[in-house]
Amino acid sequence: MTTTATPAEIKGGAWLLEESAPGDTFTPERLSDEHRLIDQTAEEFVSKEIIANHEQLETKDWELARQLVRRAGELGLMGTDVPEAYGGVELDKASSVIVGCRIGQGGSFGSTYGAQTGLAILPLQCFGTEDQKTRYLEKLVSGEWVGAYCLSESGSGSDALGAKTRATCQEDGSYKISGEKMWITNGGFADLFVVFAKVDGEHFTAFLVERTYPGVSTGKEEHKMGLHGSSTTPVILQDVVVPAGNVLGEVGKGHKVAFNTLNYGRFKLAVMASGGATTAIGESARYAAERHQFGRPIASFGAIKYKLGEMTARAYAVESGIYLTTGLLDAALADHDANDAGLFRDTLEELAVECSILKVAGSEMLHYVFDENVQIHGGNGFVKDYPAERHYRDSRVNRIFEGTNEINRLLIPGTLIKRALKGELPLIPAAKRLQDEIMSPPSLSEPSDELLGEQRKAVAAFKKTGIMVLGLAMQRYGEKLTEEQEILSWAADILIDTFLAESAVLRALQAANDAPSSAALQQDAASVWVNDATYRIEAAARSALAAMDEGDTLRMNLGALRRLLKVTPVNTTAMRRRLADAVVDRAGYSLG
Ligand SMILES: Cc1cc2nc3c(=O)[nH]c(=O)nc-3n(C[C@H](O)[C@H](O)[C@H](O)COP(=O)(O)OP(=O)(O)OC[C@H]3O[C@@H](n4cnc5c(N)ncnc54)[C@H](O)[C@@H]3O)c2cc1C
Repeated sequence: MTTTATPAEIKGGAWLLEESAPGDTFTPERLSDEHRLIDQTAEEFVSKEIIANHEQLETKDWELARQLVRRAGELGLMGTDVPEAYGGVELDKASSVIVGCRIGQGGSFGSTYGAQTGLAILPLQCFGTEDQKTRYLEKLVSGEWVGAYCLSESGSGSDALGAKTRATCQEDGSYKISGEKMWITNGGFADLFVVFAKVDGEHFTAFLVERTYPGVSTGKEEHKMGLHGSSTTPVILQDVVVPAGNVLGEVGKGHKVAFNTLNYGRFKLAVMASGGATTAIGESARYAAERHQFGRPIASFGAIKYKLGEMTARAYAVESGIYLTTGLLDAALADHDANDAGLFRDTLEELAVECSILKVAGSEMLHYVFDENVQIHGGNGFVKDYPAERHYRDSRVNRIFEGTNEINRLLIPGTLIKRALKGELPLIPAAKRLQDEIMSPPSLSEPSDELLGEQRKAVAAFKKTGIMVLGLAMQRYGEKLTEEQEILSWAADILIDTFLAESAVLRALQAANDAPSSAALQQDAASVWVNDATYRIEAAARSALAAMDEGDTLRMNLGALRRLLKVTPVNTTAMRRRLADAVVDRAGYSLG
């Protein structure tokens, strides 16, 4: 059991409208001994079998990639949260987060693993019939078979439902599929493809297609910027006959399979990013301690401390958001039959906003950390003798796949607004209440002397800012708001910062009890995030308000924003220095 919340309380996006109390948030400090054992297994697998074989993998040795998939299967790392009935270990989602985090430290293999677990095993687990699960799930979980997910085409990436691949129903109920899929991870050696095609050119549907079916072939490996140890190829289907029993989910409901799979994929991408960031922070810390310039270790310079401290604070905020969301997932699924795929699907859908937030935040945090890792390594960061160069290339795609960050940014406010309009989320009444509050005379607030009291007040102000921008935008544009992507993206930025600020503050507060030895550092990390989130949120809100109105209305809204976001700056320089010194002393990121 990872959290005290009950399934009925799990409501995606509800954090924006409610004040969360510290005490029942799931954090890395609350991992059990069982979780730590899994972590150890995954850590040994990654260091001894993946990192040790990295150079060979980068030569595109797919036989080796297959062996590693098999080995991960033998260790139970492919099916950590899959029911035992299908060869899985049937543990909680926290266990699969721990494994994902470690795998994220293993470079390109993370992509192979992510496609196998998140894009092949997951849709089968959530949408497969009993017969399909029996035929395929165990083979994938054991690593005997490799899976791939074929959604994108040369003409349809973000616009996935615009796919041209076509399926035609035959007299005997089987389907004939023709089309060409692009950029398919594991394409070069997968045995099973989850293929999306339109039945009669209209009904978007998922199919399970075996590599051995006549008419299936794969194209040449793409020459990629990074992830050289992961296979990416086109998958070509020429009049491939697929049995009726291999329709995954329902005909015409392929979007459900595609989007729910992507929800979990986005969450897992953030998990792997979190793992990757800890590796790079360790590399930077060790290098900065060893590298001397001007007769001193570069770690002693304020400019380098700033980087190490900022890398740590950003990694901490994302990690906190991941664990908070993991707690929600596990709470929703606790005490339910592990085979209840419907509940898992519904929970993923419920947490779609959190998954998109984490995808954007995780990939952008990783990009920042890897970029600064190169910078701290100086010239050595630009040459292949050090891993910093490879990390930098490998990570770029994280902002592109699993839904680009632009698409995910649009989904964050878009999903909340849709739920508000359906009456599922009381955002509209909250926006009205806030308008009344803004119109009334300001109340004076005393500085808080509680632990992180000012940061908690800041988080409450961030939420109000998000509600204000969303409320005004809905009022101003109505149904045409979808055309105002810049405003939606600024709203997304506010929501991302807010969610992570709250996650980090709740975790740091709990650390006072859960992890006294690192509590002060956790408070520093959360405070740095909140302090700088204030500036980012203010800038995003000002841009959004200025795009919506002008003259007196704009002046009035900007005045309201100033009143809402009255956050006193803290000495983040000292905090970053403490965080930097800690990662250098500990030779790596460890705030837990
Ligand atoms: C290494 C790698 C592995 C991959 N693995 C897989 C896989 O296993 N399976 C699979 O199916 N696919 C896979 N993909 C494909 C990936 O999911 C797509 O590349 C991605 O969805 C983006 O689609 P696109 O490349 O067509 O870009 P486009 O959709 O053409 O986007 C181009 C730019 O326009 C922006 N844009 C597009 N539409 C909008 C809009 N409505 N509003 C605002 N901005 C917009 C995008 O954000 C982006 O910045 C992989 C790609 C790579 C590079």
